Amino acid sequence: MSPDGSPVRAGLLPERAIIAIDGPAGAGKSTIARHLARHFGLLNLETGAMYRAFALKVLRKGLPLDECGVLEALAAETTIRLEPGDDENRVLLDGEDVTGQIRNPTVTDAASRVSVFPAIRAWMVRMQQQMGANGGVVMEGRDIGTVVFPHADVKIFLDAAPEVRGQRRFDQLGPKAAAQPEEVIRELHKRDERDRNRADSPLRPAPDAVLLDSTCMTLDEVVKAAENIVEKRLGLAESMP
Ligand code: C5P
Repeated sequence: MSPDGSPVRAGLLPERAIIAIDGPAGAGKSTIARHLARHFGLLNLETGAMYRAFALKVLRKGLPLDECGVLEALAAETTIRLEPGDDENRVLLDGEDVTGQIRNPTVTDAASRVSVFPAIRAWMVRMQQQMGANGGVVMEGRDIGTVVFPHADVKIFLDAAPEVRGQRRFDQLGPKAAAQPEEVIRELHKRDERDRNRADSPLRPAPDAVLLDSTCMTLDEVVKAAENIVEKRLGLAESMP
């Protein structure tokens, strides 16, 4: 056991590991997941992009976002794939690269709405489990450590105060931000509430996740802390007890 009481998987090769990063919107999951994937030579998989791609298809077809049967039928004739990209995943919706079309506010809101339905989640979870089956992945989302890979080798729950997450998201958008910071914070809060309160796989830390609250930390500090957690859990740290 490590000093914090967590089990240590001494000697596990990082290239076989499954690292789960969960947390609310704007907590910095993508940045940290991307960094860990590069650092440890793993594949980075952003599961939020899959919900976004599906939401884009629903919107394009003009279908309702709240009719489970309609969504389920659409899911049955949809394929979504994630491929490694330079900065973010390339997202293929029925073979079409939609990477540049899934980050706008309309798709963001729609993704949050369609993700409450158990049938849609079960379909996504199956795809995600297949993608990570051989290990060697950093998978980022809301339910990775609790549902998709409950036996993940490393689980990090990344969080920060809502105002801080909203401000960071606003800064990240830069000149593209159509809304004021307060609006971005409100939108983030709405999505969080939906994620935390849905009946199926609500957003919450897995009991064995390491909580990392970045409210008062710089990006460098969060990156270093996340690296340390992974090294410790995989038994890579030199100063192992
Ligand atoms: O992470 P991202 O903001 O891209 O996710 C978009 C939406 O997809 C989230 O607001 C959340 O409702 C949903 N999602 C989810 N489970 C995941 C990943 C994302 O419910 N594993």
